[in-house]
Amino acid sequence: MRNLVQTTLSRRHFLKTGLCATAGGLLVGCAGGKPAQAARKTAAAVSLPAGTLALPDLAYPYDALEPTIDALTMEIHHSRHHAAYTNNMTRALEAHPAYAAQPLEQLLQDIPALPAELQTTIRNNGGGHWNHDLFWRIMSPDGGGQPSGELAAAIDDAFGDFNTFKSQFNQAGLTRFGSGWAWLLVTENGGLAVSSTPNQDNPLMHGLVGKTGQPILGNDVWEHAYYLQYQNRRGDYLAAWWDVVNWAEVQSLYAAAVAATR
Ligand code: MN
Repeated sequence: MRNLVQTTLSRRHFLKTGLCATAGGLLVGCAGGKPAQAARKTAAAVSLPAGTLALPDLAYPYDALEPTIDALTMEIHHSRHHAAYTNNMTRALEAHPAYAAQPLEQLLQDIPALPAELQTTIRNNGGGHWNHDLFWRIMSPDGGGQPSGELAAAIDDAFGDFNTFKSQFNQAGLTRFGSGWAWLLVTENGGLAVSSTPNQDNPLMHGLVGKTGQPILGNDVWEHAYYLQYQNRRGDYLAAWWDVVNWAEVQSLYAAAVAATR
């Protein structure tokens, strides 16, 4: 009995303080107890975006992406919107320790197999947490320009050239009715595709979305991502956003995703 209570308290402590972490960088649960910050550094080097239960710190200040994205939008987006997804997911998983100990990506890849009472929360809030974690990573004040190396070659292969890719991606974001995301993903056969999903869905979600695979680039087209600065001009936001894309990070996500398909 004492052990059970201690385990529960310990888990609650980790959940509340965000000291959950991550053996391979992908656990959402509290297997280790390393600080989330250290875990994220490891994760960036060895694997795809980690899902920890803690709100990730940004690698840059809120005003760093100006003039493309204004500081107030960044602050509200990260500290309120993303935090809400993280908190809601954490609360839902507190009653399901077995699922909390699994990698978030694994949960997202088979949502229909989750307990019924978890499915909507993991889809919306687990998806929201994962999507925003990727979003912050693939932007940088030093971003912009074009990809190089294998990613550039793969984009040419799949879309013809970089500008054609960009315009398909922008079109995916522009034609998403309501809220959602535009994606560049590595498909199961190692190719590249562009897609769009509603709400906080993403291409990891087998059985729920059309094109599935590993997202390596995503743009948030919810109004909360751009409305203060761009109002209803989503097309202007989509066009400007390329100036902050961190191609070095996308290239590293691409390499990891392709390796996983082999
Ligand atoms: Mn968002």
